[in-house]
Amino acid sequence: MFDWFKTKQAKSRVDPVIGLDSPRLTLEVREKLRGRVMRVPGLSDEDSARLFQAGLKAVAKGGDMRTFALEAGPCDKLSSWQFTTLGNDMCRIASSIETKANLLRAGITTATWQYTSGGCCGGDPEVDALHRSLSGRQFSLKDGMKVGKRHIFPAQEDECRCRAVPVILDDD
Ligand SMILES: [Zn+2]
Repeated sequence: MFDWFKTKQAKSRVDPVIGLDSPRLTLEVREKLRGRVMRVPGLSDEDSARLFQAGLKAVAKGGDMRTFALEAGPCDKLSSWQFTTLGNDMCRIASSIETKANLLRAGITTATWQYTSGGCCGGDPEVDALHRSLSGRQFSLKDGMKVGKRHIFPAQEDECRCRAVPVILDDD
């Protein structure tokens, strides 16, 4: 009955159950997820490390919030809303990075920023207005959208509900 489990255990070197060597956990994903956890105010190093690991495991399982909740355990520094938002963000950011990589592999180089009506970025009016203003603008999938000195990518900002819509160019 648990043969699949044993196979997984045998294959994985880093984590016997979930597999932190998952191909989903690219360097880019790890760096972005680490950055997301670091932006949560008031966490101890220990909490940050545990939440980061929990996020990695959730992503390795294809964006599984249940895994995040189980692995992260209770964290009294975060409200349940902050906890859920963090887990959701980590899963969504990783999924967006994966989608981007797939599009680039398919030879698609450009996307359009699509703002989701109803608000973005947790209702922060400044960031929400920025993302709204980017809607419909094209950007390089490889580099992201240039905003000031930064390059940002839809769905990879905190609580961002925007999307990258692939653009098929004639000369692609
Ligand atoms: Zn957004």
